[in-house]
Amino acid sequence: MTKHILPGYVDKILAALQSEGFAAYIAGGAVRDICMGKAPEDYDITTNALPDEVVRIAKRHGMKVVDNLGQAFGVVLLGIAGNMAEVATFRGEVYGKDSHRPSAVSFGKTLGDDLARRDFTINAMAMDRAGNITDLFGGLDDIKAKTLKTVGRAEQRFGEDALRMFRAARFCARLGFAPDSSILDAMKSEQGRAKGLSLDRIKKELESIITAPYASTGVKMLVETGLAAVSAAVRLKGVQSSIVVLPELGKEGAWRKIDSVASRLPLRWAALLYGLDAKAILQRLMYGGKFIQKASWLCVNIDDFMQLDETSLRAWLQIQATSGEFHDSAEMKEALQDIQQLCKAHKGCLPAEKINALLGNMPVHTKDLAIKGHALAGIVPDAMTGAFLRSALEKVQKGDMANNKKELLAYASIWQAGR
Ligand code: ATP
Ligand code: MG
Repeated sequence: MTKHILPGYVDKILAALQSEGFAAYIAGGAVRDICMGKAPEDYDITTNALPDEVVRIAKRHGMKVVDNLGQAFGVVLLGIAGNMAEVATFRGEVYGKDSHRPSAVSFGKTLGDDLARRDFTINAMAMDRAGNITDLFGGLDDIKAKTLKTVGRAEQRFGEDALRMFRAARFCARLGFAPDSSILDAMKSEQGRAKGLSLDRIKKELESIITAPYASTGVKMLVETGLAAVSAAVRLKGVQSSIVVLPELGKEGAWRKIDSVASRLPLRWAALLYGLDAKAILQRLMYGGKFIQKASWLCVNIDDFMQLDETSLRAWLQIQATSGEFHDSAEMKEALQDIQQLCKAHKGCLPAEKINALLGNMPVHTKDLAIKGHALAGIVPDAMTGAFLRSALEKVQKGDMANNKKELLAYASIWQAGR
């Protein structure tokens, strides 16, 4: 028995299904989290009731059927007072040759069927309303040992669905678990299967891996097994082609420091790709322009940044402020915070207080100045306000004037008189 109070809406769904004579459990990630002493983010429910029956029961018990689009696959999304849970009918899956999607979904008869088709032992447990755990594959022991193991033979399970290889890296990265050696062996032998996976699905897994607490554990698995270098499928203008994922990551790469920077996606990408051509890689992986700019700015500037001393810092900040790279000072501040994190991870740099003190009065855009156009009425003619603000911006960036209203007003009078 596991002491865990299920949220009211989850308990209500389980109780409703049971009261109509069906079996109902929470399963998958929620049970794993509960057994690890963590509060689950969402609860998936599994039942022997067929989707039509789930819909009927939900309505009869005053629950909302939010979405039954997945009904053909046995999934109904139910809502109670703003909370949602997926209710899935027991499944057993049949795999064809295509190795990334089940060729058919068949409803399983028992809870055991449903647990057996799941990927990893820690994800293949169920819990009933009373807190009784069904653990048919040793998930609890593997949690204790912090080991990731597949349900059944790893080669077979990865052969059936190649995404599971990336999921293996994701769960190790998230939980800090070590992969069982059978998982690493199968990632090596089955990686050819990954070429049928779409770039979008691989990217989603990669993003989960690199933003996880133990990101380097997951990246190491991908690099050392060769899975990082596989190709993914993309459709470009209706034409099917393939794109290599991350063959650039070497075994001894700078990515090993990735866990020590904050878990923001552009920053984690920059830490992963430090020393490489981040821009070219992120373009190949089809990220958007703004995202690429953020991550590759960090990669391009980190080496210069590490060389800065107190004297060169102001000039460098001024160059950055006028480079057109940043839209406003808030954006530049965020980039500076990120680059400091990278810097600390790699070598150490000027103390944050020094940088922030200088950055604090480094406006990027005229809107960052401590004066608004209308405050200049009566001093500078309306038509000249823009020109004045641009001149003031340059002066403040150079350090010739402080960014405060009093000095800006005084300068306005001088500027106007000198025109
Ligand atoms: P997260 O907290 O990231 O959502 P999760 O364990 O809930 O983790 P999901 O991807 O939401 O992971 O999947 C829910 C459950 O469905 C898993 O715990 C696992 O039991 C099962 N599952 C998901 N994807 C697969 C797959 N590709 N092969 C086998 N079982 C899977
Ligand atoms: Mg989930």
